[in-house]
Amino acid sequence: MSPFDPKHRTTVGGQITIALYRIAQAIDYLLRERGKTMRLSPAQIQALLFLRYARPGVRTIGGLAQRLGVTYATASGVADALESKQFVARAPLPDDQRVVTLSLTSAGEMQADRLENILDEIEAVVNGLPAAEQSALLRGMQAIIARLQQSGYVRVYEMCWGCQFFRRNAHPDDPRGPHHCAFVDAPLAEPVTYFECPDFVPLVENREVEP
Ligand code: SF4
Repeated sequence: MSPFDPKHRTTVGGQITIALYRIAQAIDYLLRERGKTMRLSPAQIQALLFLRYARPGVRTIGGLAQRLGVTYATASGVADALESKQFVARAPLPDDQRVVTLSLTSAGEMQADRLENILDEIEAVVNGLPAAEQSALLRGMQAIIARLQQSGYVRVYEMCWGCQFFRRNAHPDDPRGPHHCAFVDAPLAEPVTYFECPDFVPLVENREVEP
């Protein structure tokens, strides 16, 4: 039985599955429409937002490829297009000249500012639901995303404060940063903890996340 077939779309599971499909289509539409007005492709939009919010160490062509789920060559093409529009600057990593880092220019930052509200309409609908429905929806979505992540279909990028590897105030007097990442075994300065990280692993349920 397939949820694509309306005759068989009778179970709650099937209806929710097709609802998620429609939401994905709506988001795709929102990205394309915004792209038309700003002369950006959906991949370029995602790249600008990635470069604004990803933790600095992953702002590379390889990191962008991973984020977009595309090949290195495709990500490099996206970076080329943004560079030619003067929204992105490339620079080799000082420690390893083979690694190309990417950063937003001031014009790129302005473009990213204009992208921030793309999902506002969806968030407004969710905010209008009763609190209990929001909680149930969140739990359900998190379960679906966790399964999709296990299957390798999606990668979750989140900030340190909800991560199993985060050690808050592990070395408060360290000039490199008071916190610690047990995944890369390195200190974390406070501002870095608020970026999105592809190595994020959520805390076990019911532990509090304190920003
Ligand atoms: S692995 Fe976790 S603690 Fe380490 S940088 Fe990423 S999100 Fe932060």
